Amino acid sequence: MRSDTVSKMSKSMIKALSEAQVGDDVYGDDVTLNRLQDHFASMFGKEKGLLTLSGTMSNLISILAHCERGDAALCTKSSHINVYEQGNISSIGGVFPIVIPENPDGTVSFEDVRRFILPENQHFARTKLLCLENTQNLLSGRALPLGFNSELVQFKSKFPLKTHLDGSRLLNAYFFHKETNPSLKVEDLTEGFDSVSMCLSKGLRCPLGSVLVGSEEFIGRAHRWRKALGGGFRQAGYFAAAAFQSLMEAEEVIRQDHLNTRALGLEFRKRGLKVEQNDTNIIVFDPHVDGSGAEYIGRLGKVGILANTRMDGKVRFVFHENIKEEDVGDVVERMFSQEF
Ligand SMILES: *Cc1c(COP(=O)(O)O)cnc(C)c1O
Repeated sequence: MRSDTVSKMSKSMIKALSEAQVGDDVYGDDVTLNRLQDHFASMFGKEKGLLTLSGTMSNLISILAHCERGDAALCTKSSHINVYEQGNISSIGGVFPIVIPENPDGTVSFEDVRRFILPENQHFARTKLLCLENTQNLLSGRALPLGFNSELVQFKSKFPLKTHLDGSRLLNAYFFHKETNPSLKVEDLTEGFDSVSMCLSKGLRCPLGSVLVGSEEFIGRAHRWRKALGGGFRQAGYFAAAAFQSLMEAEEVIRQDHLNTRALGLEFRKRGLKVEQNDTNIIVFDPHVDGSGAEYIGRLGKVGILANTRMDGKVRFVFHENIKEEDVGDVVERMFSQEF
């Protein structure tokens, strides 16, 4: 339960991979990859798509393609870009990060955003970009509320800021909201964003990969950066074929992940554990132990449960296709046994 990145390909994905028609993407003729990139672009309501190696690479390339050296990018305090990406936008891109506060549901107050945009004057970096995240990894997988996108669109009509969405788990947000809004489209969650990235290696179970989408011009710049960073792909269509197959199975798989997460959340609450709101496939709880959570994680390991602790000592469990409905009871049994 360390992460949904540990999920493995299904037999159907491996079959699709083994039968893929491929080319060489540096020559631009991998038909299966081209089809996947186009598919993501249209699903997200953008012009073009680009496969990258990872979510981190997509975020970096996106920020480099939106900003010049010396420009500033706004990112939220708990975002993956701020916390887990080594400050790469500075070390590699010369981009200055401005960290802004977020609400518990991951939204930002546009009043704050406006205040953090630096004035146009020689003393300041030029504030070019606002980065947001959906679902929010460090906020226990919360999905940005519906309605946020129209606020964003409105804000953008007044301020010339570019916007990037780290949608590493965007399909989790989508299937969460779709439960109560059956006619929802994925592009409803990407409206107002100039670029969006989504991981293939999490709920979609691919061994690697992330897709970045945006306008044709933006993807042109992103493509150059990807090559510069060593991301020129050859027969990437094998992964694209597996990802396509996974996309077909995604609704069923991800909805079940959410049901399993909720079932475990309920069991935890019944037993008095303090669990954060769990919208999607992530559960965060406070184990109420002294010191770092590391010792607690060690104890979990002894009863056969692999999990991660966070910097605040809370523990994170993540569901994915290789953890089944029946495993929920098993986890509870192990955690509330005498041994533990
Ligand atoms: C996992 C994740 C990333 C990074 O993805 P990698 O493929 O591990 O580089 C970025 N942002 C968020 C929100 C993530 O959860």
